[in-house]
Amino acid sequence: MEETKILIIEDERHITKFLEFILVKEGCRILCASDGRAALETLKTFEPDAILLDLGLPDMSGIDLLREIRADKTHQDAKVIVLSATLYEGISDQLSAAGADAQCSKPIAPTTLVRTLQNLNLLRPHNLN
Ligand code: CA
Repeated sequence: MEETKILIIEDERHITKFLEFILVKEGCRILCASDGRAALETLKTFEPDAILLDLGLPDMSGIDLLREIRADKTHQDAKVIVLSATLYEGISDQLSAAGADAQCSKPIAPTTLVRTLQNLNLLRPHNLN
């Protein structure tokens, strides 16, 4: 399996660092964007296998950004995993309809993140301690 390319879209730097730490250990190649505009700019030249998307971004809502990403055929195969501290039923349905492949509550445990990526066939299964 080639290295998995992941774009982390998250404005809180300590969370970005935490996610990056876990995923680099899993052998992923990571790029980070701290807002929607930076994410869309990055996606012009980077074709990630997966996008970790924080819902609460400083310049646009994560769901609007998700819709923009899904409107771009270049990224139709990228798996989008939404991270949010405020997942509730209404938003969850909207996210699925907008094309989110998985949704995780923040704070996310490293094992949950890795298992979520494994379930989407983005990481090879292995035993987690
Ligand atoms: Ca945020």
